[in-house]
Amino acid sequence: MQSSKQFTIEAGKGLALSVKKGQFVRVINTYGTQVVDTWAFSEEDTESLLSMEHCREVLQRIIFEPGDQLITNRYQPILKFTEDTSPGGHDTLIAACSQEMYIHAGRKEYHANCRDNLINAVKPFGIKIGITPSPWNLFMLAPIRESGLIDYVRPTSKPGDYVEVCAEMDCIMAFSACPDEIYPTNGGDGTPVDAHVILLNKNSVK
Ligand SMILES: [Zn+2]
Repeated sequence: MQSSKQFTIEAGKGLALSVKKGQFVRVINTYGTQVVDTWAFSEEDTESLLSMEHCREVLQRIIFEPGDQLITNRYQPILKFTEDTSPGGHDTLIAACSQEMYIHAGRKEYHANCRDNLINAVKPFGIKIGITPSPWNLFMLAPIRESGLIDYVRPTSKPGDYVEVCAEMDCIMAFSACPDEIYPTNGGDGTPVDAHVILLNKNSVK
């Protein structure tokens, strides 16, 4: 028997959820164009967290694929990447956007950003963010060209495409529907949109 609960990541905002070991989390690109910055922290020790750099080291790839076990900065399995209905290529290299990034890009006023979304989303769980952990940028495409240059391209996901992971430990997962309207990676049309998350218990017995 399967049970599920759906959550909305409002356009340009953040969301954090407690996810128990064995639960599945589906991140849905509801409209196809929205990048969702994604983080996971061990519930027991929140300084142990999903680490892009450690995953890349162990997987020997910069892009993760279904079947990959994703690990923390302490080499503990935290998420299993179980399914991907999108064309894939989810970026693991680019930093979360921040107020400083928007100033660097020429903005003068406060701009909503993924770093602040993360800080605010995980605060109720007692997690304090210092240096922003590198996000897993779901649906974001920043391919490396032969010359070594990083390209920024529009997402190729279709509306409703999703990425699914299974928690390998009790964790707090955080998401930000990126408010960026500058780079083409977030659709390039200046309009961050909602995304959705489904928390699934696939083997629950009723
Ligand atoms: Zn962002």
